[in-house]
Amino acid sequence: MADILVRRGTVVPMTGRMVLKEASIVVEEGRIAAVGSDDVIRKEYSADIEIDASDHIVIPGLINTHTHLAMTLFRGVMDGVSGMEWLDRAWSIESNLTREDVYWGSMLGCLEMIKGGTTCFADHYFFMDAVVDAVKDSFIRATLAQAIIEEGGPRDLDTTLEGSLNFAKQYNGAASGRITCMLGPHSAYTCSPDLLREVKELSIETGFRVHIHLSEGKSELRIVKEKYGTTPIRLLNQIGLLNPQLLAAHVVFADEEEIELLKKGDVNVNHNPICKMKGGHGVSPVAKMLRKGINVSLGTDGAGSNNNLDLLEEMKFAALLQPLSERDPKAISAWDVLEMATIRGARALGIEKEAGSIKVGKRADIILVKRKVPHMVPFHNIPSLIVYSANGNDINTVIIDGKLVMRDRKVLTVDEEEVMRKAQETFESLLERSGWEPVLDKIPRKV
Ligand SMILES: [Zn+2]
Repeated sequence: MADILVRRGTVVPMTGRMVLKEASIVVEEGRIAAVGSDDVIRKEYSADIEIDASDHIVIPGLINTHTHLAMTLFRGVMDGVSGMEWLDRAWSIESNLTREDVYWGSMLGCLEMIKGGTTCFADHYFFMDAVVDAVKDSFIRATLAQAIIEEGGPRDLDTTLEGSLNFAKQYNGAASGRITCMLGPHSAYTCSPDLLREVKELSIETGFRVHIHLSEGKSELRIVKEKYGTTPIRLLNQIGLLNPQLLAAHVVFADEEEIELLKKGDVNVNHNPICKMKGGHGVSPVAKMLRKGINVSLGTDGAGSNNNLDLLEEMKFAALLQPLSERDPKAISAWDVLEMATIRGARALGIEKEAGSIKVGKRADIILVKRKVPHMVPFHNIPSLIVYSANGNDINTVIIDGKLVMRDRKVLTVDEEEVMRKAQETFESLLERSGWEPVLDKIPRKV
C-alpha cells in the first residue's frame, strides 16, 4: 500500500529528454518508489490517495534558485529604479523590518510559489529563522542563506559572517531535511575581499555552499573597478571563490575570458531574466554559457524587482530573451529551459541526489500541469507547451516531499485568505514605519 499514486499522466521525468505516455508514479514515505506504465503499476500498487493525471502533464517540482522571499512585501514599491538607487530604497525600508514582517512576507511567497508549481527555492535575506518557520508551515523545500553585508545594508540587522555561519549550522537539515543552508555574502561590492576570502575558507572547511550576487549591474562594475581595479568575476577568481560550491546570481556582464573562468571553476550560474529586463541591466549570455557546459539554473529574484515569483513565466522569458539577444531562434531550446528550472536547479543547490527529476529513490516533488485548457491544445510537443504556452495558473496539483500540498488549486497546508490578509497588513505597517507613503499611490483602505 503506497501513500500516493499519480496515474496515467503524460510524464516528463527530466532524467533525459523524453516523455512517458500513460505513465504512473508511486510515492511511498516521501520518496518516489516506482515510475512506469500504468498497466504495470496498477497491478502492483494501490494507495491511500489516487490522483487521476490523465488530463495533465506531470513534471518535477520547479526550483527557483534565487529569491529574497519576504520582498513580496516590496511588490510595486520599487518600479522604475535599479542599481544603487533600488538598493538604497530597499535598505531604508528593510531597516524597519521585524521578524514577523519577514514571516508573513515569506508565507505569502511560499503560497505564491506553491500555486505556481515551485517546490524548492533558494533564499538570501534577513531574519532567516522566520523563513525557516514559513518553510515548515507551508511544507515547501528550501536552501536558505542569511545575507552578509559589510558596507551599506539595512541598519540594526545582523548581516555578519558569523551570523550567516551560525544560521547555516543551526538549520542545515531542518524540517526533516527539506531545508539546507548556504553562506550568503551579498556581493563583491558590499563585502571586502578579506571577508570573501574568509567565506571561501569557511565554505571549504564546513562544506556549506556560497550564494552571492555576481556581475549584476553597471554600478557594481563601477564600484569594484574603482576599489580593486578589476571586474567582480575576476576579483572572485583571484580570491578563489569561483568553484563548484558557488551559486552566482545574475552574471549579466561576462566577457569571453570571464565565461572561461566560470567554466574552469565549475561555477553554478543563476539566471533571472525578468528582473534584469525590468531594471534595464542587460542580457546575461546564458546561451553562450550553456554551450560552454556551465550549469545555468533559473530564478525570479525577489518580488521587489520582478514583480512575481511565477517560474513558468520566468521560463518563457528565459526562452525568448536568448534568441532575441543572439538574433537566432535556435539559441536556446525548450528542453534547455526545462532543465534550468528543474534538474540544473537541483545541481546548483547541491540537492540533485534528492530533487530535480522524477526518479526512483528521489524525494517526491511532483507537479501536475493542466492540459485541458485552450492554450495547451493541440496536445503534442510537450516541452514546447510547458515553456512557451503554460503559465503558473495551469498548475493544478503539487506534491512536496511526498505530501499533497495543493490539490485542484487549493493549497492544503496554509490558510490562503489569512496569509494574504496578514501580508497586506504587514505591508501597510512596514511602509508606515519606514515613512515611505509619500512616494506611493494612496492605498485604498476599503474597496
Ligand atoms: Zn537578488
